[in-house]
Amino acid sequence: MRPSFIAAALATLLLSCSPKPESVEKVLTPTPLSIDMAEGTCRFSKAAVRNTIINNTEGHALGKIEKNRNQAYFLRITRDSIIAEACTPVGLFYAQQTLAQLRDAYGETLPCMEITDAPRFAYRGVMLDVSRHFFDKDCIKRQLKLWAKYKINRFHWHLTDGIAWRIEMKGYPELTANVEHYTPEDIREVLDLADSLHIEVIPEIEMFGHSEEVWKVYPHLFCTENERTSEYCIGKESVFTFLEDVLSQTMEMFDSEYIHIGGDEAYKGHWAKCPDCQRRMRENGLKNTDELQSWGIGRISHFINSKGHKMIGWDEILEGGLAPGAVVMSWRGLDGGIAAAAAGHEVIMTPGRYCYINNSQDDPRFEPVSQGGYLPLKQVYEYDPAMGIENEEYVMGVQVNLWTEYVATQKHLEYMLYPRSFALAEIGWSMNERKNWESFHARALKAVESAEAMGYNCFDLKAEKGERTTPQWISDPEVNLALGKDVTIANPYHKQYSASGESTLTDGKFGSWECGKGWLGFLECDTDIVVDLGEEKEISEVMASYGQWYTLWIWMPSSVRFSFSQDGVNFEPGGEVLNTVDTEDMIPSFAEFKWNGNTKARYVRIEGLVRRDEAGAWLFTDEIAIR
Ligand SMILES: [Zn+2]
Repeated sequence: MRPSFIAAALATLLLSCSPKPESVEKVLTPTPLSIDMAEGTCRFSKAAVRNTIINNTEGHALGKIEKNRNQAYFLRITRDSIIAEACTPVGLFYAQQTLAQLRDAYGETLPCMEITDAPRFAYRGVMLDVSRHFFDKDCIKRQLKLWAKYKINRFHWHLTDGIAWRIEMKGYPELTANVEHYTPEDIREVLDLADSLHIEVIPEIEMFGHSEEVWKVYPHLFCTENERTSEYCIGKESVFTFLEDVLSQTMEMFDSEYIHIGGDEAYKGHWAKCPDCQRRMRENGLKNTDELQSWGIGRISHFINSKGHKMIGWDEILEGGLAPGAVVMSWRGLDGGIAAAAAGHEVIMTPGRYCYINNSQDDPRFEPVSQGGYLPLKQVYEYDPAMGIENEEYVMGVQVNLWTEYVATQKHLEYMLYPRSFALAEIGWSMNERKNWESFHARALKAVESAEAMGYNCFDLKAEKGERTTPQWISDPEVNLALGKDVTIANPYHKQYSASGESTLTDGKFGSWECGKGWLGFLECDTDIVVDLGEEKEISEVMASYGQWYTLWIWMPSSVRFSFSQDGVNFEPGGEVLNTVDTEDMIPSFAEFKWNGNTKARYVRIEGLVRRDEAGAWLFTDEIAIR
């Protein structure tokens, strides 16, 4: 037999003895740009791996890569060698991560192949809020190690916020006197590890809002010294002395290309009344407090640039105009990103709907208390960071954010992070046409298994329950008399929670686990709803469905009243059902209030009575069904 024939026969023999190897597409996360399989396998041994930095890409596979070539790599596995090539050490590092994933899947016998790979976006980040709850350096380092395996390359470290300032500053010992915080040595340790993993750490020093923790120790930096406030005074020079000093120290410590200055959710009421702020506005011809904020951000941006760094801020920094060169982190939906890109700013997309992993990832009744939203893995995965943006070139990348109001332990932190961070890794790296939910889901299951084997506490993806479902009879036109019928609502619902309007209540579908989807929200009023069945019907059951999200101030009605009418004017009381859900329970609840009996009517009225007669209390209802 000719030698190649022997090899083929041997390969056949080997294949018949071992389980069929997993297709490469099913083992790599994020999915590479291109994979070309070749015949044969390679026995892995360290000596066989050759890492080379390529200086000239002409004629090389890497030469065809136009975007993010500095992170690209080429990996060729032949029968007797493994070649990793890249233009930079970062690229080589990513080739090694890919190789490590291949080894996890295939062990010592790797299929021969060629991979040419580069990320779609330069920036693939995770933000951790360490102000609301503190996570020590070891916890941070654990996460960096896992992120690097999936080519996540930015860590946005939210170091300061209203709860606590977490980074030691020379000359300002009061900032961290009574709170857990990072010493310069802690920071150094994290940065050294991040460096070795090619992760850029972007520190955030929040201004001009979210700064109550500074007011507590340095009230003279605020418009109202005696009244608790979260916004620095933009009129006082001492504020800029302080901010420039802490920013200088931060830039020195981190030496990252980017510095994040927050810039979100500032309440501008104090600035409108403060004599210092008013003087600043007069002196600089600023028409309103938006322009005052913009002036302050501009000054800080100029300062950061003068030190050789670039500024990132949340999308509010666009208000009142933004200095060129600043990067916008878009969190309030897609609009901020779209506006920033249109104005020629680079954007990092972190829209709440797809990227706020502080929201629950499954049926919230069985999940830890969270902010109240619902963000399953699939929804993160389905997000395209260039969605709605005309020129993708302005999209620097994408990031998931983990705010920690309700996250106090490392276990819980990791539970929220994984597997959703793996989805972030793929939407930031892989081309849209290479994305495939079924494939990713299978890989995410394995990634969870592998992370758990390393001691990480992940959400149990294989036990995922999924989105809320509707009882069968409610969507059955043969049974549900209310399905598709006209609804009249006496007290208006809020425009922010209007779903598909009145018809939402008789569409035969329950709302989502998330109050923003498929629910009508009523602010500080009862729900007073009449369903017109079109003609008189025999009725034995009326069901009205309500939801409670304590953390969003949405409570069950104290009771629901049912009444019936032939003419839509005179209603006959049918009965009242009292709420039995604990209104102090922070875990969301969903309840069906039911009337049962025997009556005939054309009109059915359902009144949900608002339980808490206080400012900001909501009632949320999603469905009425009658049989
Ligand atoms: Zn002021």
